[in-house]
Amino acid sequence: MNFKSLPQLLDHFKEEKTCIEYYENIRWGGNPACPQCGSLNPYKTTRGYKCSDNECYKKFTVKVGTIFENSKIPFRIWFAAIYLATSHKKGISSVQLAIDLGITQKSSWFVLHRIREMLKDKAPRMLGENNMVEIDEAYIGGKEQNKHTSKRRSDKYPHLKNDGTPYTPKTMVVGFIERKGQVVLKKVPRAVKYEVQPLIDVHIKHGSKVHTDESHIYRNLDLTYNHSTVVHSARQYVVGNVHTNTIENFWNVLKRGLHVCITM
Ligand SMILES: [Zn+2]
Repeated sequence: MNFKSLPQLLDHFKEEKTCIEYYENIRWGGNPACPQCGSLNPYKTTRGYKCSDNECYKKFTVKVGTIFENSKIPFRIWFAAIYLATSHKKGISSVQLAIDLGITQKSSWFVLHRIREMLKDKAPRMLGENNMVEIDEAYIGGKEQNKHTSKRRSDKYPHLKNDGTPYTPKTMVVGFIERKGQVVLKKVPRAVKYEVQPLIDVHIKHGSKVHTDESHIYRNLDLTYNHSTVVHSARQYVVGNVHTNTIENFWNVLKRGLHVCITM
């Protein structure tokens, strides 16, 4: 939305309810998805949502996983702060922002810090080092349902459907995700070692802990990384701390979002 002035924005976002609806629409396009597991049928509660997945069952609001998480500051103030922070060419100080919005300087500093994080043109940095990285590949595009992990084989092997008929070609993407941090996605022409491993070299610091499934494209990663594998074909999904659930959840949420874009 393009507001011409701060009063106009504050007028529009008078009620927290309006703000929540607005942001839910931006984030989910009318189909709330659990930020924890990607499940698409949460129950509405008085304060937000509750995941309907038996194994997850987490409560969440639209703020979870965004810059608005863990803050009691109303959306209205956040939106106004974003408006001010982005409309001043030379930026705005937290002192000034506190005065303009009538909030404490502590709140102002917190809000501004998160907004800057969001706006920062994230220069590529190497993933890993003290941060465990999960690597996995996925096929993106076409209509996606929210499949259960055990039914997701056709995503990994897209050339034939389960019934043997050819699959619509999708774009293959390899993803690197830090358990606590950033994610990098790269389009690759084929799921082969010589396409994927050079990208791993560029984006993940050598020596870092990396987790993958047993796919041949990750073979020999242990030469340069601290590499652990879960053998999905042997129905192994979590061994101690070794799993690729973070990236798999990420694919679910991503595909959910893309589906919304495609069908809208
Ligand atoms: Zn969930």
